[in-house]
Amino acid sequence: MVIYDGKAVFEGIAIGRISVYKKQEQKVKRVKIDDIEAEKKRYADARDTAIEQLKALYDKAVKEVGESGAEIFEAHQLMVDDEDYIESVENIIETESVNAEYAVAQTGDNFAKMFMEMEEEYFRGRAADIKDITERILNALSGAGGDGIVSDEPVIVVADDLAPSETVQMDKDKILSFVTVHGSANSHTSILAKTMSIPAIIGCPIPLSEEVDGKMAVVDGYEGKVYVEPDDDILAVKKKLLLEEEEKKNLLERLKGRENVTLDGQKINLYANIGNTKDLGLVLENDAGGIGLFRSEFIYLGSDDYPTEEEQFAIYKQVAQTLAGKKVIIRTLDIGADKQADYFELPKEENPAMGLRAIRICLTRPEVFKTQLRAILRASAFGKISIMFPMIISVDEVKKIKTIVDEVKKELDDAGITYDKNIELGIMIETPAAVMMADELAEEVDFFSVGTNDLTQYTLAIDRQNQSLDDFYDSHHPAIMRMLKMIADAAHRHNAWAGICGELGADLSLTKEFLAMGYDELSVSPGRILPIRKTVLETNVSEYKKEKGL
Ligand code: PEP
Ligand code: MG
Repeated sequence: MVIYDGKAVFEGIAIGRISVYKKQEQKVKRVKIDDIEAEKKRYADARDTAIEQLKALYDKAVKEVGESGAEIFEAHQLMVDDEDYIESVENIIETESVNAEYAVAQTGDNFAKMFMEMEEEYFRGRAADIKDITERILNALSGAGGDGIVSDEPVIVVADDLAPSETVQMDKDKILSFVTVHGSANSHTSILAKTMSIPAIIGCPIPLSEEVDGKMAVVDGYEGKVYVEPDDDILAVKKKLLLEEEEKKNLLERLKGRENVTLDGQKINLYANIGNTKDLGLVLENDAGGIGLFRSEFIYLGSDDYPTEEEQFAIYKQVAQTLAGKKVIIRTLDIGADKQADYFELPKEENPAMGLRAIRICLTRPEVFKTQLRAILRASAFGKISIMFPMIISVDEVKKIKTIVDEVKKELDDAGITYDKNIELGIMIETPAAVMMADELAEEVDFFSVGTNDLTQYTLAIDRQNQSLDDFYDSHHPAIMRMLKMIADAAHRHNAWAGICGELGADLSLTKEFLAMGYDELSVSPGRILPIRKTVLETNVSEYKKEKGL
């Protein structure tokens, strides 16, 4: 057994034979030519062929990996048509009276070198794209084509580096994993590998020779290791991991696209909690019906200064567009307590969990609040956004918030900026005061979402950060269960809907109970959606209620 270490870019286990991928690189000769115009025409025709191929590849990739994974082929079309690139090729043909192949190869080398020398990793990653389009134009010039790996069984593809067009042209059913010697984490190969959910390792000094070609191997995308000819112990451990993964995947596959409906026809929305845009892939992958909690404070926590309206707008717009009309509930800034950002210069407090936090900061610093509201409202023109306010304790607060929201809406109206005029407004129920005032609060808003993390902390008087109190922290405490029922009932009495976005929402032992209470939505970590869907599908709510005497 030989072990090679690299950098994992997508988790997972693959077990199979290695196939060393060999590029069909063009050997380009320098040939003197007489007819410069004819050579330029050959180059123009080759560009057209390349563009046609890239269009076809784009369509193929959209079907296989979705629009974002396919974007690279649009980018490549632009690169083929890039003025600087074309000028350089034509200039070489003209000044040196040489064949188009040579001019293209020279230009490709020069441009790739230029990108490689750039500071930013992103641009260095683009060197591979230049090589890729250069190879494509050269193939078109020589009339060559045909890519991909040839193999009858699924294999672990080992390569020096893989161009996106190479990966997309491969038959996906035959690929268990990608392992490359070079490539960056930002390269489109790793992005595509992620989109295709194939374990992938880059920067792995594995020999591209008979030494590994055709041999059995295990790729561990958790550890970033490749085990060539693994011993029995390793193989047994990895096979077990693979089996567990497959079970999870099967569950995922079978339940994707299914409605969240109980055996007796009760429906519930299963949404995802996210902290930033990086989580969006997981939201889609796990078939979430929407985003039930976007913890917007992470935008502030990841910043050295107050994020501007434009910065926030771009993020909210991206989320709204990605969810393509599915609901996105953005929770306004919930900073303070354990979430501190220096530039807020919050006073040191004896008891920060009960201090100046969340909506209290927003109401005392309306300029910060308004900036965020403007950004959210503007983004609401690009999807289905709702706004949710944290740490509410009174009707008065909600009224103040609504006045501020109306002021911002008026500013936007005056400036002729569009937004969703019927945007839903909701509040988090995470203080005992809000529970007690639930009827009055429900009159004011469109929905409630229960923050069970804080509600438990404030109800049981147990600091959620204090590990030494874990034995006292009973998340199923009857007081919390009773409150949850009160909250759902109060919401429904006043035509509001009710959801749970705290951790308790993902507790599978309570899913039936939440259904019996009549909750309309559970918002949980993306990975928990399908297991909950499974429970929902297996539940008969009326029977459960009978059983429990409800
Ligand atoms: C909660 O309190 O349950 C909640 C969802 O909010 P956070 O955990 O971000 O405080
Ligand atoms: Mg909370």
